[in-house]
Amino acid sequence: MSETKEVRTRFAPSPTGFLHVGGARTALFNYLYAKAQGGKFLLRIEDTDQSRSTEDSFKMILESLQWLGIGWDEGPGVGGPHGPYIQSERISIYKQYTDKLIAEGKAYRCFCTQEELEIKKKQAEAMGVPYVYDGLHANMSEEEVQEKIKQGIPYSIRFKTPSKNLIIDDIIQGKVKFDTKLIGDFIIVKSDGFPSYNYAVVIDDALMKISHVIRGVGHLSNTPRQVMIYEAFGFPIPEFAHVSEIVGMDGKKLSKRAGATSILAFKDLGYLPETFVNYMALLGWTSPDGQEYLPGGLPKKIFDIHRCSKSPSTFDVFKKPKTEDEVVTNFSNLDQIAEAMNPKSKLNWLSNKYIRELPISQITNSLLPFLKDRTDIPEIVKNPNDPTLQSIVDSVRVYLDSLRQAPDYIAEFFVSDLKIQGDEAKEILNQDSSPIVVRKFYELLKNNEPKTDEDYKGLMASAGEQTSQKGKSLYMPIRVVATGKAHGLELPILFPLLGKEKLLKRIEKSALDAGISLT
Ligand code: GLU
Repeated sequence: MSETKEVRTRFAPSPTGFLHVGGARTALFNYLYAKAQGGKFLLRIEDTDQSRSTEDSFKMILESLQWLGIGWDEGPGVGGPHGPYIQSERISIYKQYTDKLIAEGKAYRCFCTQEELEIKKKQAEAMGVPYVYDGLHANMSEEEVQEKIKQGIPYSIRFKTPSKNLIIDDIIQGKVKFDTKLIGDFIIVKSDGFPSYNYAVVIDDALMKISHVIRGVGHLSNTPRQVMIYEAFGFPIPEFAHVSEIVGMDGKKLSKRAGATSILAFKDLGYLPETFVNYMALLGWTSPDGQEYLPGGLPKKIFDIHRCSKSPSTFDVFKKPKTEDEVVTNFSNLDQIAEAMNPKSKLNWLSNKYIRELPISQITNSLLPFLKDRTDIPEIVKNPNDPTLQSIVDSVRVYLDSLRQAPDYIAEFFVSDLKIQGDEAKEILNQDSSPIVVRKFYELLKNNEPKTDEDYKGLMASAGEQTSQKGKSLYMPIRVVATGKAHGLELPILFPLLGKEKLLKRIEKSALDAGISLT
């Protein structure tokens, strides 16, 4: 292997869209493996497809990695000894290597036009055989080549593929055999002068001294091309680990819609980065002791790429689509995404655990963006250290699967003009026993000084005993007059935070609206 024993991994996204879960998981596995081994993690931007690469995508990829807490030791913005780390800034480097390959007879210029190649492809298709370039220009004389260049005929550069059987010993996928005859001479430099992916990736990985190439299994079929280029230059070949596919709840490749969801959408949906990283770590990897909740930061120390599974992993964040159409529609806003999500996902389970267990000030701090535009929550409490906010959040966090759900709960504490909402709530108050229960609870509340949840439970129990009501016919009328709704927070949690005076006022208002006499 390379002269240095240091583990060096890299994430090499093409800035042609936003970062989605497949890419983010690749980045995470590379990052974790490098950290677990005391090595380095690099970020390299592969923007040689100039027509599809955008500055916006580049920025979003960086922002997504930063949100996830995946920092790079070398790469854009950080620099490093093997830069530049953006491929479009490395064109002169590739050129030096291409000149060398041509001089050694390992690559050649191909003057075939797009139309000629199309015809050959169609012929192969008609014959039912896989298309392999026929090497037409492989043996052109140097004079002929120079003549064509002089005439300004555009050309690409092809790698002269040696015919052989090649075995890739992949850390995750095991030994995989390839017959290079089926590959043929492939393009390493396109007619626009930009290198192809398979070519630039090898030169960069070699010069950047990458020891382990960890990426999606979709790239396994590219690996023999890359290995042949390593061999042509005499570069040490890194180890390969092709991480298995992520599938949706229907067992199919992540749909365009669900799979293409930007990582940043999960931030806006109220998931903490810790949660999302924990969730992604489990997509294909298992911790040595089988634990799934891995708090205390990323599972840096225990991550091992050798423990990754060959079978696909299920991204259970979205419900199984009901129709094919549903799969391909693009999300246009967060509500649509939230609607398509599976409420019982492992992501939600983990999210609830993190929200429950992280320090309260961290939660209130992360909550601020979700409170910003809420006019039903007083500005004065929109401060992570506000004791009222902290105690409300502390009492409701057990209910939350995401921070985005919090504002509705919080707002419940600040309702000033309570209204009885919905038929279910109204029907509850129409039951014969309801006015009796409400009256009794109101009387007990007025004559006592309840403070804690136990005090309130006691009051409700006494109201039950004195009116001979229990269960739903006891709690539901109290809930409706206190909150206006038939469902919501547990009353012993709500009442102490609301306090006796506010609660009395709420009951008076509801009773008035519902025509219940309190005396
Ligand atoms: N730019 C390639 C991609 O985004 C990188 C593949 C690799 O890691 O080699 O798929």
